[in-house]
Amino acid sequence: MTRTHAYAAPAAGKPLAPHTIERREPGPSDVEIDVLFCGVCHSDIHQVRDEWTGATFPMVPGHEIVGRVRRVGASVAHHVVGDLVGVGCMVDSCRACTPCREDTEQFCESGAAWTYNGTEMDRATPTYGGYSKRVVVAERFVLKVPAGLDPAAAAPLLCAGITTYSPLRQWNCKQGDRVAVVGLGGLGHMAVKLAVAMGAQVTVFSTSKSKEPDARRLGATAFAETKDPAVFTTLAGRFDMVLDTVSAKHDYDLYLGLLRPRGVMVVVGVPPEPTPVGAFSLIKGNRRLAGSLIGGVRETQEMLDFCGAHGIVADVEIIPIDRINDAYERMLRGDVHYRFVIDMATLNETLNETLNA
Ligand code: NAP
Ligand code: ZN
Ligand code: ZN
Repeated sequence: MTRTHAYAAPAAGKPLAPHTIERREPGPSDVEIDVLFCGVCHSDIHQVRDEWTGATFPMVPGHEIVGRVRRVGASVAHHVVGDLVGVGCMVDSCRACTPCREDTEQFCESGAAWTYNGTEMDRATPTYGGYSKRVVVAERFVLKVPAGLDPAAAAPLLCAGITTYSPLRQWNCKQGDRVAVVGLGGLGHMAVKLAVAMGAQVTVFSTSKSKEPDARRLGATAFAETKDPAVFTTLAGRFDMVLDTVSAKHDYDLYLGLLRPRGVMVVVGVPPEPTPVGAFSLIKGNRRLAGSLIGGVRETQEMLDFCGAHGIVADVEIIPIDRINDAYERMLRGDVHYRFVIDMATLNETLNETLNA
């Protein structure tokens, strides 16, 4: 075991603070990684606040990890010391069930080992995420970060990137499609970049009028401020796809009305409360309402390679780890442009200050 510095929430809703965890010695097929950067996902906030219930503490969040390989086990074939690698929302799965064999480990019938707030496949050892100096991960769940991508700005691809890439691919987003992206936060801004790269015409639906210039800079051709109810009538029936990234409760019926006949609304945002959906919102025009959960390992690598080929990374604000609690508050106010990424080098400095205080 190796002692590793980290930042953890000691209990539901409590501020994150310095903490120490144990990481296992790398086994034959494990990769030990020095974490360089970790993105801050809204799912971190939901879980630290136990908004989805069942959270376990202390919790070390973080599932948008980029780092350098420090050590590899004897049978590791695909990664060597010094490689720039990524780890997303999963660190293991059973690897034998149908979903695992079909490269959708997120649906593993035994339950995937989530990167944090979960357990390893032994169902006993808690998992701790990327707000830490070092992780040890099974080789199959370690991704290659393409050369040429900035490591800090690539970190959010490991969750925000794959979570928006996967539904765009599942629903065959293509040249000329009209895509509505709802919510311009971490996921939303990746959705805009990826859909634009796939050739779509993107309209951003946002509660924040101030984000319009950014939406256009990211490649959107139109912007709708959702505080104005008129946008839902003037833009009704226009879109092939609505990609909903909103983290708080809102009215799905309003957004279903934006779809053309047989269009699809894909929900990726996870408001803690359920949302009613009127039958007519679906029946009129044979509209479809779907969900999407991150993406499998193979698709995550495909997404990273797509981003490498198109030069796509997140727009990031790099923060020292002692600003994490403030970053959560800013995200809750919609004040994120467009992903906070923790520079993990600052964890040592913070700990030294704590020790010297
Ligand atoms: P984020 O950066 O905080 O962005 C969420 C955006 O939603 C905000 O920037 C805001 O955009 C909009 N919003 C917030 N409150 C709203 C409200 N009351 N009404 C309308 N719009 C509101 O969060 P994120 O990291 O992108 O994550 C978004 C959601 O996706 C979270 O619920 C997260 O847990 C979930 N998620 C799901 C998956 C999956 O696999 N399905 C993976 C990762 C994350 P505007 O200012 O533009 O309105
Ligand atoms: Zn996430
Ligand atoms: Zn499985």
